[in-house]
Amino acid sequence: MNAPDLKTPLPGPKAKALIERDAHVVSTSYTRDYPFVMARGEGAVVEDVDGNRFLDCAAGIAVNSTGHSHPQVVAAIIDQAQKFLHMSGTDFYYEPQVRLAEIFNEIAPFDGQKRSFFANSGTEANEAAIKLARYTTKRYGVIAFLGSFHGRTMGSLSLTSSRAIQRKGFGPPLAGAYHAPYANCYRCPVGKRPDGCAAECLDFVEDQLLVHLVSPDEVAAVMVESIQGEGGYVVPPAQFHQRLRDLTTRHGMLLICDEVQSGMGRTGKMFGIEHFGVQPDMITAAKGVASGLPLGVTTARAEVMSWPPGTHASTFGGNPVACAAALATVDLLRTSLMQNAADVGAYMMDLLKAVQEKHAVVGDVRGRGLMIGIELVRDRTTKERATTERNRVVEACFKRGLLVLGAGRNAVRLSPPLVLTKEQAKTAVGIIDAALGEVTGAAAR
Ligand code: PLP
Repeated sequence: MNAPDLKTPLPGPKAKALIERDAHVVSTSYTRDYPFVMARGEGAVVEDVDGNRFLDCAAGIAVNSTGHSHPQVVAAIIDQAQKFLHMSGTDFYYEPQVRLAEIFNEIAPFDGQKRSFFANSGTEANEAAIKLARYTTKRYGVIAFLGSFHGRTMGSLSLTSSRAIQRKGFGPPLAGAYHAPYANCYRCPVGKRPDGCAAECLDFVEDQLLVHLVSPDEVAAVMVESIQGEGGYVVPPAQFHQRLRDLTTRHGMLLICDEVQSGMGRTGKMFGIEHFGVQPDMITAAKGVASGLPLGVTTARAEVMSWPPGTHASTFGGNPVACAAALATVDLLRTSLMQNAADVGAYMMDLLKAVQEKHAVVGDVRGRGLMIGIELVRDRTTKERATTERNRVVEACFKRGLLVLGAGRNAVRLSPPLVLTKEQAKTAVGIIDAALGEVTGAAAR
């Protein structure tokens, strides 16, 4: 399918009708930035119910890693569905779950024997990680970072600090959840410059938090995104993760890396943390792991995941069809798509750097592989956040046939399927260039 190819004004009549029905019956808590109503998809192209085709740089929030309905993934799903749909891997055994645990034993970015727990989503994978860390260390505290997103169930939500609305109205969070500044080099929380940085933002943890608020021997774990996702696609310097590793090891805390958004090949490596030369004790994965079927994975060092039967489980976790989709997904990532993410991501980044030179509103372009953030500012010196402009750029991209999402207060995120071609990347960047021009009033070339 070629895209963009727009046939009706947006939204078209069928899209309008469905949105109207949705408005009466679907939870009002969802955030829809623009009226895209999906009918079908193939690779990095999606078609709406009115036959309009869009280039997809959102991938269902960084989920469709192998593209929409990759034939190999669909074949694996059909094959498994014809055998059985469910048997609960917590009470019985089946091959796809065992095989996937073997695969995670190979791909999880730390040495030694590993074990995996299977859930249905990112938040559940993180709940399992929090519970396991508390159980294993017999400590209760967990440190996370400002701007982070770890999910919306009560445990994960207590570590999430992306937007206040996500926490507002839900009462006190989990006791023992603490937050520290994340290493954002474009807006260094302690006023340093990247060239002279020794991850001084972590001084707050060592000199303040662990001195004034909680004793280190009561902290079970630090949970961190290797690259902050919902917070704005923020890439920290390697020192940040390295110092965190050192700090957690020194105090006997577990280092949990949330790879829900940055994992599964998106950054050009299987897991984002592999860019920083650090081995965590545990990782969580979801989103791209099964190309769109719901699956969450928590993988830990075997000696960490040795809780006895009955401590934690999930009826649907590790569903056999989702596991089969994940096995096909990992195979595709390893044989070609991870490399494609690295190559097309580097190409796209170069094109976007050129766009940055044309538009003063583009303050920063950053990322790894096909996890790219474009931060918009009203003034490059003051770095005043251009939130309204960002929202308008997202909308203008949609009107031109490109799906993108916002991230953080003022960044546009690009998280396309990892099958994106260079030609499609060029088309996407051309649309972003034109949308920026439209929104800021500059002539778009
Ligand atoms: N962790 C990270 C880094 C995420 O980006 C997300 C979702 O955006 C989650 C956890 C939660 O995943 P889910 O929505 O599948 O519960």
